[in-house]
Order: sequence, then structure tokens, then C-alpha cells
Amino acid sequence: MPELPEVETVRQGLAEWVRGRRIAAVEVHHPRAIRRHLPGSDHFSGALAGRTIVDICRRGKYLWLPLDSGDAIIGHLGMSGQFVMQPHDAPDETHLRVRFTFDDGGPELRFVDQRTFGGVSLSEGGAVLPDEIAHIARDPMDPSFVDEQFVAAVRRKRTDIKRALLDQSLISGVGNIYADEALWRSMLHGTRPTDALTRPAVRRLLGHIREVLGEALRAGGTSFDSLYVNVNGESGYFDRELHVYGREGEPCHRCGRPIRREAFMNRSSYSCPKCQPRPRRSAALAPRVQG
Ligand SMILES: [Zn+2]
Repeated sequence: MPELPEVETVRQGLAEWVRGRRIAAVEVHHPRAIRRHLPGSDHFSGALAGRTIVDICRRGKYLWLPLDSGDAIIGHLGMSGQFVMQPHDAPDETHLRVRFTFDDGGPELRFVDQRTFGGVSLSEGGAVLPDEIAHIARDPMDPSFVDEQFVAAVRRKRTDIKRALLDQSLISGVGNIYADEALWRSMLHGTRPTDALTRPAVRRLLGHIREVLGEALRAGGTSFDSLYVNVNGESGYFDRELHVYGREGEPCHRCGRPIRREAFMNRSSYSCPKCQPRPRRSAALAPRVQG
């Protein structure tokens, strides 16, 4: 599943390939890919033909493409969505969902999605910030992210730290993998109650999140040498740099203990039993004194 670094890599690739180009036509090959656009595919295509893509923006895992009309195209990759640049004569991908062609006759943009959890939609008046995305917090790579606001919000939450990192209203762009990696660097178990963390501990964790995302971004940032804007949640980062995620039973890179895997919200959490001891109390089980 693509996370922030992959989506940012897609954003950069799209910026290179489609910024400033005027859309000639839009073909919707599968209605599910535009299900968020309630007026349907004819309306979607009609609203986009003749419009110029002004820029490519991102918040968390959402992309939006402001248009010269003041509207925006929203793109969400879901589990398996990809934006692919192709010459016209390239055969259609098996899972081609939406095709955008351009007035200049250059490469076309295709939205390809095997599982169709992702999609594109039109946000009326959404060029600056689509309403559909406005509830999502900024991500820690965003220059307008306010560190102290995040630190205070985390400490006010009565939850555990990994859940807080995945809470899109607090911070966006941190998925399961990056949460585990950042927690390992901070030597915190994911079930540590947020209200028991000190300010410096949360600041340090935020620094580690930035480190992890930055490294992943650099590892994934080289995949646009070719015509293909092609992201499948598999940047070079996943092979080389992971310390805990997916490493159950392998030695901790810090202390040598075997990495443990624990169930977490239908997924798994990976941590080192020595470097990241479980807290004595968890946020969910702790008795709380009100008032
Ligand atoms: Zn360890």
C-alpha cells in the first residue's frame, strides 16, 4: 500500500509530466474508479475537457490537481492505484480505469488500479484545498506543519502512540510501516499511552518520523527516469532500510534480539522486545480518574 513517500514520488512525477498541459478528453473505463464523483462519468469527462492542469498538490496520501477552472481533480491511490504515462499507441493495461489525453498530443495519463480501492474525482472549487481533503492533518514533511501543536495534541489524546501516529486528524502520511520504523528508532512500544509521554519524547519521535520518511523519499525518488510514473508501494526503501517491519524473528539491528510481531488492528506491529518494552499500563486498559 503506498504511503507518503510513494505518493510524494508520484506527485513529483506527475508535476514533471502533466503540469501546464490542457486536457483534451477523459475516458472512464470503470465506473468504480470515479465512484466518489456522484454525477457520473459523462459529467466527469465533460467538466475536465479543455481544462489545464495548473499544478500537482498533495496532503497525506491524497493528491489533487488544481485546474484553471478553480476546480481540482482528486486522486487517491488506494491499495494498488497507479498513474502511468504512456504513448497513445501503447496497449491498454489490463486494469486501466481512466485515460486522460492532452491537446498537445504528448503522452497520455492513465489511472490503472487492479483492486479499485483508489480512484479519481472532481472537486468543485477545490483548486486551493478540496473540501474532501480539508479534514486531513498536514504531514510532517509539509513546511506548514506545526511541531508544538502536534506534540500537544498527541499528549492530550487518550490513546496509545501507534494509534495516534495513524490518526489522520493528528498527522497524515504515516502508515503502518513508517510508524513501526519510527517507534523502533525512538525505542517506544506502540502501546505506550500518549498522555504519559513527555514532550521531548514526542518531539524525538517526530524527528524519527521525518528521518524515516526522508530516507524513504530519497530511496523512491529516482524512479522517474523513464516515461512511467509507476508506484506500487514498492520503493527501494522496502528492501534495504527496514529495521523492524516484516522482520519477525530476525535480529534487532541495535541489540540482536529477535524482532517480535504482534497483532494490531487487523494488521501486524513489529518491534524489538528489548529496545521497545511493553508499557506497564496500556492506554486502553488503564483505569482513568476523571476530573
Ligand atoms: Zn533491540
